[in-house]
Amino acid sequence: MKERLKKLYSEVFGGGKDPRCFFAPGRVNLIGEHTDYNGGHVFPCALSMGIYCAAAPREDGLIRLWSAAFPDEGVSECRLEELLCCKGAEDMKALAIGSRAKRSGWTVYPLGSLKSLADAGYSLPGGLDMVFDADLPTGSGLSSSAAMEVLALTAASALWGIELEGPEKALIAQAAENRYAGVPCGIMDQFASAMGKKDHAIFLDTQTLEYELVPLDLANSKIVIVNSMVKHSLASSAYAERRRECAEALEDIQKEVNAASLGALDEESFERAAQLINDPVCRKRARHAVYENRRAVKAAELLRNGNIKGFGALMNASHASLRDDFEVSCPELDLLAETAQTLPGVLGARMTGGGFGGCTVNIVELSALDAFREAISSKYIEAFGKECLIYTADPSDGAGEL
Ligand code: ADP
Ligand code: MG
Repeated sequence: MKERLKKLYSEVFGGGKDPRCFFAPGRVNLIGEHTDYNGGHVFPCALSMGIYCAAAPREDGLIRLWSAAFPDEGVSECRLEELLCCKGAEDMKALAIGSRAKRSGWTVYPLGSLKSLADAGYSLPGGLDMVFDADLPTGSGLSSSAAMEVLALTAASALWGIELEGPEKALIAQAAENRYAGVPCGIMDQFASAMGKKDHAIFLDTQTLEYELVPLDLANSKIVIVNSMVKHSLASSAYAERRRECAEALEDIQKEVNAASLGALDEESFERAAQLINDPVCRKRARHAVYENRRAVKAAELLRNGNIKGFGALMNASHASLRDDFEVSCPELDLLAETAQTLPGVLGARMTGGGFGGCTVNIVELSALDAFREAISSKYIEAFGKECLIYTADPSDGAGEL
């Protein structure tokens, strides 16, 4: 990979400099969906699929970016002074696709990260040349955006001699996505990309950022990701709506119950408080947030004890809750998860990520893998007339230098 990256670098920017190479992974969330903005727990792992870059510092203040995912868009250029003047997502978008120079929309992620690094009080000493290449699908709920942000920070901090601990890097990358990409996401994606560990999942308390790396000993099973290859336009508006509904439910509860977040409630305290939530829709949303958080806590406990079967059952329950109470699934994800749940050798299956498209995550016994691929592929084509993509996932290390 390093050779390929260096070759790309010299093709794009010419020879003369020996760039350093970096990687940041995508992530899959095993359980704990839509809990990260509710002060609950999430349980993602970093993937071996991710984004790579070759990068070198520049003495002047020029930042030049190129991605193999958007080769037709050529090299995007931006001056450090212009970047430092950006105040928010509108400015950043204008900068990224501005008319004065050739720039691309995707550059909001790396540029946003660099600006966010400056916002955190670090001084940016010069410019950078960076080329990106990836083996991670974009826009599929495996967090290519977070990988891009974490990668830009990993490369820039290493090249500029800035020491950034993983959790701080994740927070700066999250701020970039919130402020400069305009996506009000929680901390999970950036945390997983920055903090992943090979053969482990990250059990993260999103309220306190306390985390535990739980060994993923799946015995004779594998994590399998199925990409529905759809992304419905509802995704971003529904995300904002769900956040609002959860906040409204919490406000109703807080009139009589002392709870900092929905994640602070267990099942019993929620059931006692549920009648305080006026709107029945908000009540369903809150029920998902509370029970899903509890499932994430139980899942970590089960996996610490090697109980993969029990973990799989929680995944199935998670899918039902996302479909019925949180209502963020879609026909494609339902078919993929529900078909998987009926197949022999499948311990659990659920949609993963924000919803309305993207991927399912499945735990599949090795001996059942071929039959799984066949059954899922043919059912999907039969129902929707298009192909899904199936990957086996190996929990991997977080971002770093190659
Ligand atoms: P997800 O994070 O689920 O993959 P998003 O819509 O949040 O989906 O982010 C996808 C966007 O991230 C792409 O449209 C692109 O702008 C940027 N991106 C992802 N991968 C790359 C890449 N390899 N090169 C350049 N930009 C990328
Ligand atoms: Mg994203």
